[in-house]
Amino acid sequence: MKPQTILIKGGRVIDPSRSHDSVADALLKDGVVVAVRRNIAMPDGARIVEAKGLVVCPGFVDLHCHLREPGYEDKETIATGTRAAAKGGFTTVCAMPNTRPLGDSPATVEYVLRKAREEGTVRVLPIGCVTKGSMGQELAEMGELAQAGVIGFSDDGRPVNDANLMRQALSYSSAFRLPIINHCQVDELFQGGVMNEGWVATRLGLRGVPNSSEEAMVARDISLAALTGGRVHLAHVSTAGTVELVRRAKEQGVPVTCEATPHHLTLTEEAALGRNGGGRFDPLTPQGYNTYAKVNPPLRSQADVDAVVEGLRDGTIDVVATDHAPHNTVDKQCTFAEAAFGISGLETALGSLLSLAHSGRMPLLRLVEAMTAAPARFLKRDDLGTLAKGAAGDVVVFDPDAEWKVDARQFVSKGKNTPLDGTTLRGRVVATIYGGQVVYEQAGGGPKTR
Ligand SMILES: [Zn+2]
Repeated sequence: MKPQTILIKGGRVIDPSRSHDSVADALLKDGVVVAVRRNIAMPDGARIVEAKGLVVCPGFVDLHCHLREPGYEDKETIATGTRAAAKGGFTTVCAMPNTRPLGDSPATVEYVLRKAREEGTVRVLPIGCVTKGSMGQELAEMGELAQAGVIGFSDDGRPVNDANLMRQALSYSSAFRLPIINHCQVDELFQGGVMNEGWVATRLGLRGVPNSSEEAMVARDISLAALTGGRVHLAHVSTAGTVELVRRAKEQGVPVTCEATPHHLTLTEEAALGRNGGGRFDPLTPQGYNTYAKVNPPLRSQADVDAVVEGLRDGTIDVVATDHAPHNTVDKQCTFAEAAFGISGLETALGSLLSLAHSGRMPLLRLVEAMTAAPARFLKRDDLGTLAKGAAGDVVVFDPDAEWKVDARQFVSKGKNTPLDGTTLRGRVVATIYGGQVVYEQAGGGPKTR
């Protein structure tokens, strides 16, 4: 498919990279942004996207998702995962390497890139492993992985336990100016936990994970980043203590960045209770717990959620990342202890996050920045996350007020695992444009294009 000439007319253009927030037209041609201003004349043969009453912003950039291919194509493929991304307004997704085989060799990285070129709907940027086999024993061939095109290194799903190995990883990766993305969890404190250590775990008789499991490793990683000068990026932060540690580290100029997921920004541990109680605990329902709310790190307390929201608002938390983790139904329809960790999040991210803007807890401009300009800065890509002239023609058009009921069966992701199934969200993607091509349009109620 060739890029089209597309004129997006009359939307509220929010482009935090240029502090732009006003009604304007946006013109895309030959796959790039040509102009954003008022009253652009209709070029010959252009496709029009009517965006009156809608928000127009750079395509979202997701630094953390699991596309599962190669090896777990029953859970997701690059084809289905990138279609889900487009439906969620994402035009760039970074794929975690915990595939089979793992992304610890250039061959797997090249496979992911080739598959994405052939079957992907949006841009895929691979992440490579920190250690061989993600075993935490020996560094992966980071130089070769960097050459193959990874944007960072992570053993996500597992922490880098060995502090000396983490030190070496940070020293070594700084030569390529690439970050180490750590899944912060002290295994000795995690101890087979399945949800937050708190009253819900106690009521359900389940093993809890204390906040310290995350915070102790965050403190270690900050110290190692200061020691080595290497870039450390903390995946999916979930606790108030973590936010405070990062805030202080940043004040001291330590090269640390971090991300928060839509679920850690909007849901508490109470989501693990069965839904029949309407959020209130009811031990007599057949659904005494909800495995779809089982995620790692676990959903935390309201105080933690509030601190994470505040951290995102004030920039302590740099970006929003989905940690999209699709699973099979059988991985979730079992006991809470047996269920897999993870939430399929690409298609509900925007609707969830907009609740923060609607309630006045997060300026819309900051929210969009955390999904566009901030992750682009992290990737050192000045062609992404912006509508500056010459930038990639990646645009999302969304209706911030459209209400819709989540129906996981309608997900294009293979992963139907979401605790939001059946809930109503306010805010929906109506069109996604990638490289100057419309790659998603909401069926029925989408923007009028002609
Ligand atoms: Zn993780």
